[in-house]
Amino acid sequence: MVIDIRRCIACHACTVACKAEMAVPLEVNATWMKIVEKGAFPDVRRFWLPRLCNNCTDAICARNCPTKATYKREDGIVMVDQHRCIGCKYCIASCPYDVRYINPLKNIVQKCYFCSHRVDAGLLPACVETCPTRAMVFGDTNDSKSEISQLLASNATVVLKKEMQTDPQVFYISADEAAMSSIEERINYYTETAFIKLRI
Ligand code: SF4
Ligand code: SF4
Repeated sequence: MVIDIRRCIACHACTVACKAEMAVPLEVNATWMKIVEKGAFPDVRRFWLPRLCNNCTDAICARNCPTKATYKREDGIVMVDQHRCIGCKYCIASCPYDVRYINPLKNIVQKCYFCSHRVDAGLLPACVETCPTRAMVFGDTNDSKSEISQLLASNATVVLKKEMQTDPQVFYISADEAAMSSIEERINYYTETAFIKLRI
């Protein structure tokens, strides 16, 4: 997935679509919006970054899952088999990106699966389809003719915490350094609109 921050208006439509599509309980989020404010009044700027599971190529969460509940599909999507998950949270501890959550109704771990059920039906992930500015692009990076491959070839992109060597598969265009920062100090946490606000 590519997320073009030049087009993103932080409207939260993606987080709402995710909630609805995946029946994510109110207290937790599979997709959320990181908000960062830089500077001091009157010279203040706000930056944002939609956050979700990176469906990493080298998914450390899958490696550390003791029951193999977390596994990779052939197309690269990292899944959680809800019948095998015992809620031990090893994967949550392993993931450097804070994108997994315990479903309080089922007591198992869940996350974003790029809407694998929709992908299997030939549809786009709910967030991608809902984004009003087409800031999110999803597709096959192995297909050089796909829109996502063209975007990756023609734009500079960054991934979160490259140094963790998990090979994240969510690529950002024009993300501000402040929003990409690994600082995850949560100043305000709004569960309903699912955004986390930071001041640096
Ligand atoms: S739906 Fe699109 S524009 Fe809105 S916050 Fe998400 S990525 Fe940004
Ligand atoms: S972002 Fe975290 S949960 Fe998602 S695949 Fe990577 S390590 Fe696993």
